[in-house]
Amino acid sequence: MKFTDFNLKDTIMAAVTEAGFTEPSPVQKDAIPLVLEGHDMIAQAQTGTGKTAAFGLPIMSMMKGDGSVEGLVIVPTRELAMQVSDELYRFGKNAGLRTATVYGGTPYGKQIERIKQASIVVATPGRLQDLLMSGKIKINPNFVVLDEADEMLDMGFLDEIKNIFTFLPKQRQTLMFSATMPNAIRKLAEQILNDPKTVSITKSEKTNTKITQLYYVVQERERDDALVRLIDFKNPDKCIIFCRMKKEVDRLVAHMTAQGFKVSGLHGDMEQKQREVTIRAFKSGGIDIFIATDVAARGLDVNDVTHVFNYHIPFDSESYVHRIGRTGRGGKTGEAITLVSPNELRTIKRIEKDVGAKLITQVIPTRMEVQN
Ligand code: ADP
Ligand code: MG
Repeated sequence: MKFTDFNLKDTIMAAVTEAGFTEPSPVQKDAIPLVLEGHDMIAQAQTGTGKTAAFGLPIMSMMKGDGSVEGLVIVPTRELAMQVSDELYRFGKNAGLRTATVYGGTPYGKQIERIKQASIVVATPGRLQDLLMSGKIKINPNFVVLDEADEMLDMGFLDEIKNIFTFLPKQRQTLMFSATMPNAIRKLAEQILNDPKTVSITKSEKTNTKITQLYYVVQERERDDALVRLIDFKNPDKCIIFCRMKKEVDRLVAHMTAQGFKVSGLHGDMEQKQREVTIRAFKSGGIDIFIATDVAARGLDVNDVTHVFNYHIPFDSESYVHRIGRTGRGGKTGEAITLVSPNELRTIKRIEKDVGAKLITQVIPTRMEVQN
């Protein structure tokens, strides 16, 4: 099956070609025709499988571009709002479809202006609810998408989402996309979807088989050295180092910078502007090493991340899956490397069980090996 089989609008099809997509991904193959037929839908597919295009292409293909807000996409984080908005902008620009990105922590005025000119609004739940309840905006989108719905519920946005739907027209096409399908998601789907079609692309493995998963046992005091040595050894084109805490991010940024690496940090205490600048620098290749808390793991899509490092093993398996899913995207291979102390080996066992994959243990390369 090819993209041309979908009968997407010419301008949208041109954007697909421009993006370099040759073949639709499995979730796209299943979802795009059903969305074009006008069905409500709940779709589940692993992270990195092209869910944005699976809803973006068909809904944009059906938009009139009459200057009103025709589509609303709700996403869990600001980073995702920017990323999804960028991708939708690419798909829709030839069709004259503008996007507006809406999230907290920035002034209202500009956002409201942009919404007035947009065909598609990509928003986080908090700020959107705020704008709707205060009457600052009124929108009547025919297409409503809940993207990364599982994340949204994990982050505690259920009430906001329900409330937002009270402001939306009853006549609409509603789509839910999620990497996982816990009960809470099914329940929400029953409430907001109308006679939905289900698309589920499941694999026995929860993690992408294109990602090699390694772990290294280190003593606590060796952690920093081990990380630096592994980065020297692996020589990643682009990597993300995940930390548990904001202050760890700051400390590691200082440490790695002192060692001569070009790195940037990202966490929730940073100003919004700063976060945007950092992500763009990472995406464009100006910065190759990104040190982040889990904030950045949530759906962040940066091309060509070759390695993900877990400076500490994440507490829960879901977080592990999301973190390592930042590499091995778009059919490419990747490596996920986790540092564990001897007393964290139990966590490795638990993660292996939860994700249904085996992690390979290796020893930290010696200085000699690094130099060769
Ligand atoms: P998900 O939402 O499932 O995690 P994304 O929508 O973020 O995944 O897509 C992951 C990456 O794959 C993006 O960089 C996107 O541009 C790319 N992509 C999507 N569909 C295709 C395709 N059919 N062919 C090649 N790359 C694709
Ligand atoms: Mg996504």
